[in-house]
Amino acid sequence: MNASEMQGRTDVNTLGEFGLIEHLTREFPLRQPSTIKGIGDDAAVIENGDLCTVVSTDMLVEGIHFDLAYTPLKHLGYKSVVVNLSDIYAMNAFPKQITVSIAISNRYSVEALDELYAGIRAACDAYNVDLVGGDTTSSPRGMTICITAIGQCEKDLIVYRNGAKKGDLICVTGDLGAAYLGLQMLEREQRIWQDNPDLQPDLEGQKYAIGRQLKPEARRDLVEVFRKNGLKPTSMIDISDGMASEIFHICKQSGVGALIEEEGVPINQEAQLLALKFKLDPITCALNGGEDYELLFTIDPKDTDKVRFLPDIYIAGEILDAADGIKLNTKGGKLHDLKAQGWVHF
Ligand code: ADP
Ligand code: MG
Repeated sequence: MNASEMQGRTDVNTLGEFGLIEHLTREFPLRQPSTIKGIGDDAAVIENGDLCTVVSTDMLVEGIHFDLAYTPLKHLGYKSVVVNLSDIYAMNAFPKQITVSIAISNRYSVEALDELYAGIRAACDAYNVDLVGGDTTSSPRGMTICITAIGQCEKDLIVYRNGAKKGDLICVTGDLGAAYLGLQMLEREQRIWQDNPDLQPDLEGQKYAIGRQLKPEARRDLVEVFRKNGLKPTSMIDISDGMASEIFHICKQSGVGALIEEEGVPINQEAQLLALKFKLDPITCALNGGEDYELLFTIDPKDTDKVRFLPDIYIAGEILDAADGIKLNTKGGKLHDLKAQGWVHF
C-alpha cells in the first residue's frame, strides 16, 4: 500500500476513463419511464411522443483535445460540432439542435471567438442543425468547449451498441487511420517549426490525412442511405477512439465476440504511405488511431445485399460467440487477440 492509498485517496488513473464513469454513475437508477436509454451508448434516448429524443454531449479541452498552434479556430469550431453530431448518427438518428458552452481566458479576442463561431456556423449549415443555447464563462487559462447535440428518431429505428448477434457481419464506413496520421504530421511540423521558425511546413502529399484531422465529417450520408435502403443495423457505434476500442464496446454490450479480417479494414492509400514514412504499421494506425468519425456497425447476414453494392461500406469481419474472444485475422493468416488500447506489436 502506498502513502496516498493509506489516506484513502485513489488516483483517478487507477480506474481508467470507462471504469471511472461506471464508478461515478453506479448508484443512479433510472426513475423515469420516458428514459429509454441512460448512460452507456453514444447518446441517451428519451421517449417523446411519436419520436424519441436522442442526446449526446462532449467536452473539448485546450491542451488535451486540441492544440491551437496548428488548429485554426474555425476548424476547431467545425470539428467540435461534427464530433457531437457523429454520436447522434451512431444511434441511427438525425441531429436537430445543438447547445454550445465555452470557458475562455482573456487571451482570446472577440475576433478569435468570431472565427470559432464561423466554424460552428459552417457545421450548422452543412448538417442542417440549429444552435439553440449554451453558456459562456471565464477560465483561468485556455479554452474549454462543451457541446450538446439533440436529435430525433422513430423508436423502432434506434440502433444501440448492444444488438449484435453471433453470425452478424461487421461493417465499417470510409477509411481509418488517416486522422491519426494527420495529427502525427501536424505535431511533427510543429516541433520542426519550434526548432527553426524560418522553415515553411512541408505538408505536400499529406493533404488527405491533415484534412481528416482538422476537418472531419460525420456520416449523415450513410444514415440516409440506411433509411433509403430499409437497412437497420443490429448495432452501431461511431469510431472516435479507434476501431479496436469500439468493437470492444459493441462486444461487451452485446455479450458477443468478434473476428476482424485485416483485409477488410479500409485504409486510404495516402495514409498507408504516411504510416510507412513514420515507421508505423498501417493496420495498427487504422485499428487504434481514432478520430475517424466513421461508423462501425453490424448487420444481419440476410441484409448483406443491402450493403454489398453501396459505396464506402466495407465488410470487415463477423460476430462470434463471447467465448471466442475478439480476434484479428492478419493478411498473413495469423490469428491474434485484438488489443483495445495501445499499440499492437506483431
Ligand atoms: P462517446 O465516446 O461516444 O462520446 P463516452 O465514452 O464519452 O461516449 O461516454 C460513455 C457514456 O458515459 C455515455 O453514455 C456518456 O453520456 C456517459 N458519461 C460520460 N461521462 C459521464 C459523467 N461524468 N457522468 C455521467 N455520465 C457520463
Ligand atoms: Mg460515440
